[in-house]
Amino acid sequence: MKKLSIRLKITLWFSVVLILVVALTYLVILSVSGQIIQKTIRDNLIQTVESNVDEVEYYSFADMAGLTSDVDYYVRYGDGYIEIDDDFLDQVNGVYTSLCSSDGDLIYGENPIILETAGLEFTDSQVQRITVNGTLYYVFDRKPETEGLQELWLRGVVSEHQGDAEMTDISRYSLILLPSLVIFAIIGGYLIAGRMLRPLRQMADTAAQIRQGDDLKKRIELGEGNDELHRLSEQFNEMFARLETSFHTQQQFVSDASHELRTPVAVINAQCELTLEQERTSEEYEDALRVVWRQGRKMNRMINSMLDFTRLKLQPERYAKESLDLSELTDSVCQDMALIGEKEITLTWEVEPEVYCSGNRELLTRLLSNLISNAYRYGKPGGHIQVSLTSGEDEIMLSVQDDGIGIAAEDLPNIFHRFYQADASRTGSGNGLGLAMVEEIAAFHDGKISVESKPGRGSTFSFQMKK
Ligand code: ADP
Repeated sequence: MKKLSIRLKITLWFSVVLILVVALTYLVILSVSGQIIQKTIRDNLIQTVESNVDEVEYYSFADMAGLTSDVDYYVRYGDGYIEIDDDFLDQVNGVYTSLCSSDGDLIYGENPIILETAGLEFTDSQVQRITVNGTLYYVFDRKPETEGLQELWLRGVVSEHQGDAEMTDISRYSLILLPSLVIFAIIGGYLIAGRMLRPLRQMADTAAQIRQGDDLKKRIELGEGNDELHRLSEQFNEMFARLETSFHTQQQFVSDASHELRTPVAVINAQCELTLEQERTSEEYEDALRVVWRQGRKMNRMINSMLDFTRLKLQPERYAKESLDLSELTDSVCQDMALIGEKEITLTWEVEPEVYCSGNRELLTRLLSNLISNAYRYGKPGGHIQVSLTSGEDEIMLSVQDDGIGIAAEDLPNIFHRFYQADASRTGSGNGLGLAMVEEIAAFHDGKISVESKPGRGSTFSFQMKK
């Protein structure tokens, strides 16, 4: 059974059940029709004898004068005659009717088993059974109530084989019809099972193609439909899409990382080569070491940022959300960041009290500190940074405004891309990952980040999220 396909297993199972049901139906049909036919035979026997009773009459000699019919049959009996009408049916549809004396002597009619029924007592209006040479006969007796005939009996007999022809017909038709039905149902079932299981084969084929060709773009195409298999294939397609995205994210990560790390590594190599070319003073060695140290720190920062970013993108479930006081969080981040005091820039903040939201403390802290760091980094000396937190009807808005160098219109669409730096020469310690992370954090909180900026005048970054 192990090697059989599901299609064959289903077909085999319902074929066996169907054959059993059909065989049972056949037996029931035979038994019920047998009973009905036997009852019809008995009813027919009773009906024939009953109608024959009316065809027999007695006439005394005195009454005979007026009788002229020459078609009817007359039998001398007692002080007169028995008149048997020509409608008397002594043999019809296998039913034999005979007129007998109460001793069993035949007066008129036919009885094929007259010897065997001789000993059978006459009982009025009752069907009796007698077996002759293994064949069952039904016997029906009737006592005529007509004057002068009270001593006689009408006896009807019929064999149970009278219904054989009908039974043969029924069994022949059933034997042709029922197996044809079974064959039809099995072929139909096999075809339908194949049709219904086709999506499964398509899914297996698609999975095999993906495995063999590593082509994550492949999808299961089942066409229109809303059954379980269609829903399953949709789930699979969604899974393939997610796999494709995460696979590309990882590929992108590896390629971006190697590309970005190349510069500091090249600087370190060049610095080392240059320094080792000849004997150096200890100050020169110290300078060289500082360059290597700086580049090392830069690489370290970059690797950490990339790891954080990838972790948030691929495993957001690692960051739990809680109900937190965003006012308190903003306040404390601003207090810390105000201490930087870089380029004589002042940081002020206006925070609406008791603004609560559902979020991740670590990520929201990172979002705000990234925006403020950028405002310092790209702010003008002696400038000003303004942070504000406000809460509307059903939205929270957190914004960081600076009066720094601003961003050119053509750079605006790109600044949230990973490793994008509008002007690499101005960035100093940045690595182009800060805003990508900010955007990812905003998405994690089902919020959005927007920017307004005028070159030379300053920029405002705003984070909006639902309460
Ligand atoms: P970086 O590490 O270079 O700051 P980010 O992703 O944080 O990387 O920012 C991407 C680019 O967007 C920056 O290189 C800079 O050109 C621009 N940018 C970001 N914030 C500001 C700002 N407040 N003022 C002007 N330019 C900004």
